[in-house]
Amino acid sequence: MEVSKEKHFESCRLCLTDIRDSNVTLLDGIIKDMLEIILPELNFSICDMPAICKTCLETLKQSYNFKSSCLEVEDKVQDFVDPKSPSTIDLKQVIRRSNKINSFSKTHVVCRTCLGLGEASACLKLCSYEGDPLKNMVEKCLPEMGIELTKDPIICPICLEQLEEQFHFIMQCLDTEEKINYYCERKGIFKQIDLHSVYLFSMMEDNEDVDKQYEEMQTGDLENNCTDVRTEKYANKNTTAQKNTQESKKKTSLIMLHL
Ligand SMILES: [Zn+2]
Ligand SMILES: [Zn+2]
Repeated sequence: MEVSKEKHFESCRLCLTDIRDSNVTLLDGIIKDMLEIILPELNFSICDMPAICKTCLETLKQSYNFKSSCLEVEDKVQDFVDPKSPSTIDLKQVIRRSNKINSFSKTHVVCRTCLGLGEASACLKLCSYEGDPLKNMVEKCLPEMGIELTKDPIICPICLEQLEEQFHFIMQCLDTEEKINYYCERKGIFKQIDLHSVYLFSMMEDNEDVDKQYEEMQTGDLENNCTDVRTEKYANKNTTAQKNTQESKKKTSLIMLHL
């Protein structure tokens, strides 16, 4: 729902950007449902009438569309799972059944997330090794997908771009969540949070961090303090993103009906 500017809406719930001078969208109804599909772990009740900026709204819609189509593909792939004879699924077979295409060029490979045909040289391998950043992105954005169901899964450049966009969006939202949680703990307030205060508080904290680091540099004590704090923060977030596949799919189809 588009709403005009009011005193309530000072900062975007997802990125803390100032939204006083622009039209904002309330984070409720379908918009909230979409966000729950992308990021089920967000605390929606931390502030009254949360709103989001135009940029976050656009990215949310794109991320939601991408994830919905990935879950549709997942449905088709899961149809081929035979619990009696577990073996990897050939995606060309999945395409044959759903698109009635029978002949494929030998050089063609099938994208795991969109079932599109592409040249192997233009696509990237998924899950090639433990700790692969691409694997990390898929687990974070698409925890419902059984990537291991297919042999040597790959992703096409179009899906990769969308996956990266969704990943950055999720990380940005989690960064905001981290700032809100930190603010709540420090101030001892756990409801009706003023997001603009969170923003100002996090700016102050960042400046203090810089001052502290500068002091440590002066005393030559910076050796072991170069770890990226954000990376550490996110390391513990992975597990909470796991959500029941069926539940997500059910929600997706419900939202589809309303769009
Ligand atoms: Zn925003
Ligand atoms: Zn693709």
